[in-house]
Amino acid sequence: MARYRGGKSNGTSRNGARRRRVADTSTSTIQSRVDRATRTGGRSTRSTGNRFLFPIDGTGRSAMQTERDDISRDMRKDWLPADLNLGANNQPAPRPNLRPRGIENPDNHCYWNSILQTFMQMPQFLHWIRGHVPTISCAPIWNPGAKDHDRRYLQGPCVCCNMKAFAEEYWGPINPQIPIPHTSPSLEDIKTASFQNITMTGGGVPKFHRSRQEDAQEALVFLLNVLNDYDLRTEQFDAMFRLFLVPFHTCPVCGEEKEKEPNTDTGLIVTIDAVNNITVEDAIHDKFEKDPGPPSQCNSETCNGANTDKIQVWVIRAAPRILSITLNVFGWDPATGHATKTVHPLRIGEELDLTRYQEVKGVPLTYRLSAVVSHRGRTANSGHYVASVRSQGVNPLYNINDSSVRRINRARFSANPQAPPNTKSRFQAYILTYIRDEGPLERFLESKKRAVDILKIDRGPLLEQGDEDGNQEGNVGVHVA
Ligand SMILES: [Zn+2]
Ligand SMILES: [Zn+2]
Repeated sequence: MARYRGGKSNGTSRNGARRRRVADTSTSTIQSRVDRATRTGGRSTRSTGNRFLFPIDGTGRSAMQTERDDISRDMRKDWLPADLNLGANNQPAPRPNLRPRGIENPDNHCYWNSILQTFMQMPQFLHWIRGHVPTISCAPIWNPGAKDHDRRYLQGPCVCCNMKAFAEEYWGPINPQIPIPHTSPSLEDIKTASFQNITMTGGGVPKFHRSRQEDAQEALVFLLNVLNDYDLRTEQFDAMFRLFLVPFHTCPVCGEEKEKEPNTDTGLIVTIDAVNNITVEDAIHDKFEKDPGPPSQCNSETCNGANTDKIQVWVIRAAPRILSITLNVFGWDPATGHATKTVHPLRIGEELDLTRYQEVKGVPLTYRLSAVVSHRGRTANSGHYVASVRSQGVNPLYNINDSSVRRINRARFSANPQAPPNTKSRFQAYILTYIRDEGPLERFLESKKRAVDILKIDRGPLLEQGDEDGNQEGNVGVHVA
């Protein structure tokens, strides 16, 4: 399936994602041979954890994670208000209920519809995109000579401006039982940008094809890249979406550990070992701790190039608020030249705990399932995509199959394969979206703050009582007021 595709922005390229997917596939058999005990052994010899070990500043996080958390803390994460858009007379016009809206699909655009549905269920993103301030660069420039519908722009249209308009249409006052029409200008222009592959850094060759089924994961990556391109609030974007992973290699002979080139993609792509993985967490675990990585020479004084690093462990230096995990089900058989698909029964957790994969593990890193994009069919560019989402309201779980929106229960939401209501077809889970639990982090920070406050109270008198050498021996202990 691997058509070459251009387009790159801010270090996160579609091609980069493609390369890793291919690499992932090729190493999967080796991965399955690495035994669990070896990994644990490798892990215990690592010194990474001690380098910044908690509690130097009491935050229990890497400096980068603390920075991201601080940025994210100032961003709104509640749902958009029900009276989002004012009516014609500037009167509040609340939507009649909080259901998600379907999106019409006359033209094989289920991959786009499914991805857009996942974005519409990310409150933090919705507030952020509503804060997009149009600049002169957002204005599209028409192509006067265009005969092709997808060539009608020389520049733009701005995907952020259109996502903002789309979010306001989606959550606006129109009865949500009515799907978004395929003629919606914002919907049309988001897709047009992909058909024309327009970005701030240059466009040109169409990368997606208007009437053809495409790969939902490529649409996701495209969208994230252009959103990042068109909006200047990069730090907020990174806090929301970017996963900063660092690989460490360890030499099995001298034990020296080296930090290698980080991966700073907007999400995680995991290979599926359908034999040995039971859950999605197993697949993530393999990705972080079983992937042998590329061979690299050990140049320590002892080895001096004679040996090769054998163990690679990825650690999370900074985790995003919104984490997308692609289960790499699509591949390619070099023998036959045909596209392949792994049909897997991996269990999807509604909760995901990545605490132990952090570089500094002082603060819980837990997520809650927000959306499942699933696929039925043989290749990424054929078949059909649907989305199951956790939206808002009392019963927030829905399956969205283009214009059809149906309430589902929890079992159906996290089932794999997905079984959308009103169809006998089964869909394999492909892209999972998780949103970080803010609760554990907030509680952690609150408890740290209390501990610091107590220390201040206790230390006040101590400092005064200490002798001139600062010797407070004998005074250490809890002071009872
Ligand atoms: Zn714009
Ligand atoms: Zn060595």
